[in-house]
Amino acid sequence: MQLLDGKLLSKKIELEVTADVKKLKETCGCTPGLAVVLVGQDPASAAYVNMKKKACDRVGFYSITHDMPAHISQEAIERTIISMNKNDSIDGILIQLPLPEQIDTTKLLELVDPAKDVDGFHPFNVGRLLTNLDGFVPCTPLGVMELLREYNIDVKGKNCVVIGASNIVGKPMASLLLNADATVEICHIFTDDLKRHTLNADVVLVGVGVINLITEDMVKDDVIIVDIGVSRTAEGKLVGDVDFANVSKKSSYITPSPGGVGPMTIAMLLSNTLKAAKINAQKAKDQ
Ligand code: NAD
Repeated sequence: MQLLDGKLLSKKIELEVTADVKKLKETCGCTPGLAVVLVGQDPASAAYVNMKKKACDRVGFYSITHDMPAHISQEAIERTIISMNKNDSIDGILIQLPLPEQIDTTKLLELVDPAKDVDGFHPFNVGRLLTNLDGFVPCTPLGVMELLREYNIDVKGKNCVVIGASNIVGKPMASLLLNADATVEICHIFTDDLKRHTLNADVVLVGVGVINLITEDMVKDDVIIVDIGVSRTAEGKLVGDVDFANVSKKSSYITPSPGGVGPMTIAMLLSNTLKAAKINAQKAKDQ
């Protein structure tokens, strides 16, 4: 069994991004800028935003967090997004999800300029992913593909079972795999007999948030496991969706969780923001 080490790869990507930022600053005097919208007091969201901000600082990005109270109005957030869309020092806009119940999340995601949509949640970018055109791809599944590539795992022709069908994890994960010529199945909460599907999988990619959802009897020998889930046990420990201790014995490759997909998600946010900044720098040069 070999670990798919997202922590290690994310550090390598950070170094590459740092070098590119330095080059960009030297050639055009531009600094990539990321704006984050954080609404409410959810501790997990605040922790994620803090990690993203620290990563931006490490690679030399400019970053700003719009920290808003939970009772804020839809219109106030919309005004903030519109102003960031117009702000030339901002290349990427990220709305930390989930948002409080009174907020129309879809409307806000659609308001973000697709050229600054570094989370890849705007329907414009979703459509480009589906049609295998270049655009911004959601960071978590993009990070999974980078991790597989780093370990020379080609999914072409492989049976890939994606468990979880959300817009931010499962659906874009399935699209990326399909674009890479895998045979893809998507399972979700209403899937009957999950084991029947996973037993046939060469690669299991699970992002659900249920501790020990995948056990050793559900996978075949030499399976490749990508654990995207993050949950906290009663003791406060972070764990994934896979019974790592037992499933790892049957796997050829497996991501640890934490330390697998999580750090790759942040690395891809940096790389998407850098991509947006490079496009903007080129546009400014062409004008
Ligand atoms: P979500 O709640 O939006 O979606 C969960 C999905 O899992 C749904 O499609 C649902 O049908 C499916 N599901 C639920 N219970 C199931 C079951 N028993 N069997 C099969 N399918 C089931 O969640 P999300 O935002 O997609 O996040 C999923 C998980 O991934 C969470 O644990 C989240 O913390 C984690 N996550 C991790 C990262 C990272 O960077 N590592 C990023 C995003 C999300």
